[in-house]
Amino acid sequence: MIWRTVAAHNHAQQHEDRRDEPSETLVALNSKSMVASTSSFAPAVAARELLQTKQVQRAFARLDAQARVTDDEHAAICAVPSSPFGEQRRARALAERFRRLGLHAAEIDAEGNCVALRRGRRLRPLLVVSAHLDTVFPPETDFTVRREGSVLRAPGIADDGCGLAALLALLDALEACAIETQGSILFVGTVGEEGEGNLRGVRYLLQQSKWASEIDAFISLDGPGLERITNGALASRRFRVRFVGAGGHSWGDFGIANPIHALGRAIAQLSRYPLVAGPRTSFNVGRVQGGAGVNVIARQASMDVDLRSEAQSELERLTEFFRCAVHRAAEVENEARLAGTTPLKVAIELLGERPGGETPATAPLVQLAMEATRLFGVTPRLDCASTDANIAIALGIPAITIGVGGTSGNVHTLDEWYDARGRQEGLKRALLIALGMVGVADA
Ligand SMILES: [Zn+2]
Repeated sequence: MIWRTVAAHNHAQQHEDRRDEPSETLVALNSKSMVASTSSFAPAVAARELLQTKQVQRAFARLDAQARVTDDEHAAICAVPSSPFGEQRRARALAERFRRLGLHAAEIDAEGNCVALRRGRRLRPLLVVSAHLDTVFPPETDFTVRREGSVLRAPGIADDGCGLAALLALLDALEACAIETQGSILFVGTVGEEGEGNLRGVRYLLQQSKWASEIDAFISLDGPGLERITNGALASRRFRVRFVGAGGHSWGDFGIANPIHALGRAIAQLSRYPLVAGPRTSFNVGRVQGGAGVNVIARQASMDVDLRSEAQSELERLTEFFRCAVHRAAEVENEARLAGTTPLKVAIELLGERPGGETPATAPLVQLAMEATRLFGVTPRLDCASTDANIAIALGIPAITIGVGGTSGNVHTLDEWYDARGRQEGLKRALLIALGMVGVADA
């Protein structure tokens, strides 16, 4: 099998080129996947031909045969608590399973990710297949899994319990069927995907870990479903705004600058943001805090704000509008205060930032994923979301996030559920995409 970019054959050079040119992609050439350079890429042939190989047929049979075991593994890994910045136990549990399935060098990296290499004939191309370990739930949450037939119920059971279960099922199928690949697959459970984790796990993996300079493509398995291929990275920023004043008595000190009144003005102004028809853009004041009582002028008031857009340029515009709204709200409050009293201070803190971007629909990874999806009789749907793939995309690494079959509901609530019916198709699709990217060695 030959590996090639359009521009260069030297590995180091390839890497440089890729970082500079996001649309340029490493492509596998072998007898099984018939994948040529970007210009002559024929993903339909690749996925369909792969489907007919005995290796893939055996792996599919194994996935079917292990369906019960996959459900059991899913329940077991999700019963291990995992909160934001508290993923250690689940990371260790995943590493232990990776080892049991044959990846003896599975390890926890310096950021807390669980990482295990399944080496092919060569290290490169190196494809990351990942799912996130963290949930949105605090440490005191009861992670007990309840099962009713094909339905599993627990906080985080779908997001991203089904991704973790998929990692284990895919690895099991590859190992049990002794499928040798041309390139290699790095199996990863990431930390910090949700909320204030700010994608810290995948940032470390792709920028600082020992694998950082070797990674050629990235797939995140996140949530259920079979038609979604997330190739767009939703740009977002999260802020905490604090208004701080002197505080006082509601009657006795009336007329001093009031942090809560300023906060209200800022929210009112932000909510007037003129939305354009596209790109889709959103803002949300998700939490407000402050105040000591009904007859107290608060010393401080704060709000957490989430801004998102499909386009980085629109996010910049919204951010500017938001900053102006906040500073203007403080000014108005200060201008109206009694002479000689203390002015409000305002601070805007950046809590998190996720870069936007896109793996082009024409990229071999996206084309392959679309063709693999069609093989299951499903029309693929490209979309834009905020996932671990954002960081890969921002670094110019071809990346997508896909669901791994089944259905779910009440995600991010204590009543979250996952129905495993249809899971097998999701696992098979993921396997085809992964093998299409790294190539299957001749038996
Ligand atoms: Zn998720």
